[in-house]
Amino acid sequence: MSDGWWAEVADGVFVRRHRELDLSVGLVLGERRCLVVDTRGDAAQGAELAAAVRMLTPRPWTVVLTHAHFDHAFGAGAFLPCPVWAHERCRTALTREGAAQRADWAGRYRAAGEHATADALAATTIVPPDRLVRDRAELDLGGRRVTLVHPGPAHTDHDLAVHVPDAGVVFAGDLVEHAPGGSFTAESFGPDADLARWPAALGTLLSLGARIVVPGHGEPVDDAFVAAVREPLAALADLRAAVGSGRLSLAAALARSPFAEDVTRAALAPEVSRS
Ligand SMILES: [Zn+2]
Repeated sequence: MSDGWWAEVADGVFVRRHRELDLSVGLVLGERRCLVVDTRGDAAQGAELAAAVRMLTPRPWTVVLTHAHFDHAFGAGAFLPCPVWAHERCRTALTREGAAQRADWAGRYRAAGEHATADALAATTIVPPDRLVRDRAELDLGGRRVTLVHPGPAHTDHDLAVHVPDAGVVFAGDLVEHAPGGSFTAESFGPDADLARWPAALGTLLSLGARIVVPGHGEPVDDAFVAAVREPLAALADLRAAVGSGRLSLAAALARSPFAEDVTRAALAPEVSRS
């Protein structure tokens, strides 16, 4: 059973889109190895992705996780044995909070009547990365170099972007999202997000000079899309700071926000619950 489809966004650089959570994962082909960018959300989904990768290439794989959220990281076990790269705090997050995240989302799927997904998630073994990045690392896939870059705290404190310089492509994880007809969703601004520093992280992402940006959810975008969401995101961060310090009411912040109400409420949630 497959719910995914591949698109080649540059020579030997593929994006696989999935109906489940509108997730986008990646595959970068080198002459000796291939690099799988994110692994889907449980052991069954990871196995499905691994089989889909094998339809495109027989080369040995390396895995990189853009961050510790289950939908990106929990399918990694299907690719073992292999090197699994991630930011060093991604390992910490998976080790400390992975089991709680698994229980939380299995419960959400069960409450939604999606019992097969809930069961698969509950039975999944969480695999911590064994190759750790602090700021950046370079991988040689054979005839192609890929750079792993931590652009600073944003969607989480350990986001990792995957830059393929010769192809002009960067996989941004959930640093960038592309909801139908818009940019961010309420899910973009979870409890791990650092809204104040997110716009600067997008600046670092843009400084890589990639033309094609693959978001963690939704269709690939270009650098102009990322540049265009930076200002509204900075405005949202300012609103949150103003509400947090009591200078602005929630109602006024909602009225002034460049984002939809549900997105704004999610982004302001910690301040709102405090006030
Ligand atoms: Zn995420």
